[in-house]
Amino acid sequence: MRNRAHVAGWLLACGLGALNPATAQTPTNGPTKEQLANDNNLFLSLAKKVLKWEEPADPVRIVGPIYFVGTKGLGAFLFTTSEGHILMNTGMPSSGPMIVESIRKLGFKPEDLKLMINGHAHIDHAGAFAYLKQQFGAQLAVMKDDVVAMESGDRDDFKYANDFVYPAVKVDRVLRDGDTVKMGDVLLSAYHTPGHTRGATTWVANIVVEGRAYVVAFPDGAGFNPGYRVAKNPSYPGITDDYRRTHHALEMMKPDIWLAQHNEYYDFEGKRQRAQTEGVKAWMDPEGYRRWVAEKKRAFEDEVDEELGVTKGAPN
Ligand code: ZN
Repeated sequence: MRNRAHVAGWLLACGLGALNPATAQTPTNGPTKEQLANDNNLFLSLAKKVLKWEEPADPVRIVGPIYFVGTKGLGAFLFTTSEGHILMNTGMPSSGPMIVESIRKLGFKPEDLKLMINGHAHIDHAGAFAYLKQQFGAQLAVMKDDVVAMESGDRDDFKYANDFVYPAVKVDRVLRDGDTVKMGDVLLSAYHTPGHTRGATTWVANIVVEGRAYVVAFPDGAGFNPGYRVAKNPSYPGITDDYRRTHHALEMMKPDIWLAQHNEYYDFEGKRQRAQTEGVKAWMDPEGYRRWVAEKKRAFEDEVDEELGVTKGAPN
C-alpha cells in the first residue's frame, strides 16, 4: 500500500535521500509519493530546497588531479591537467558562477577549462553548461543518446516534458559506450548506463598518484524518480532492460573511490570531514559503492514488482 509512511524510503530511493527527519519534511507531513510523481514542480522545488542544490560549498581536492567544485547537494568535479582542465557536471542553471568561483578558490583558472562532460541531461547537472561554454569556450562531449536533450535544454523529456528546461547547449563531440577522453595525464572512460535518462553516462577515471593507481567511478543512470514508469506502460520503450543492463554494468565495476552527481549518495560531507585527518584514505570506499549499487538495484526491482502488482513476502 502506498501511504505517507512509505515516502521516506521512497525519497531515499529516488535520490531525495538527505531529508532530515528534524525538518518539516517528515513522512507525516511531507508530500506523498503520488504527489511527487504527479507534480513535477513540487518535486523540483522540494528537492532543490531540502537537498541544498543551489547552496555554495567549499571546493576540495579529492585525490591527485580530481577536485570537488559542486554545491552543497550536487557533485561537480574538476580534473586538472597541464593541457587544460576538464569539468564534469555543472548543477542547476544558477551554479555557473559558483563553479567559476570554486575553480578560482582552488588556485586554477576557469579560462583553462577545455572540456566539459556530463552524467546525464537533467537540469540539476546540465543547467550551467551553456553559461560556462559561453564564458570560456570549453568543448562539450556527451553520450549519443543524451545529445538531443542537451541541445534542446531537455525539452520533451520523457517524464518532465518542458517543466525542467535549462539553457540549451551545443554538443561538440558525440560519445559512444566505451569511448575515452584524454587530456594531459587524465584519461576518462565513458560508459553508457541508460535508464534515468536515455544517455546517462558512468565515467571512470584511472589515475596514478605518487606511484599508486586509483580507479575512481562516477556512477549514473541507476536512479528513478517519482512518476517514472519502469515496467508497466514504461516511460520509454526499453527502459526496463536499460536499467537492468545498467545495474549489471555498475556491478562489474570495482572502484577504489566513487563520487556522484548527488552528494548524499557517497556521503560527501562525512568523507570530506574525515579526509582532513585521514587524507585520501577517507575517500576510499569500495564497499560503500557495492552497497549503493545493490540498493539501487533492489529499489528498482521493488518498483517493477509494485507496477506489475506482484505481492511479496506473504506467508504460505
Ligand atoms: Zn536526473
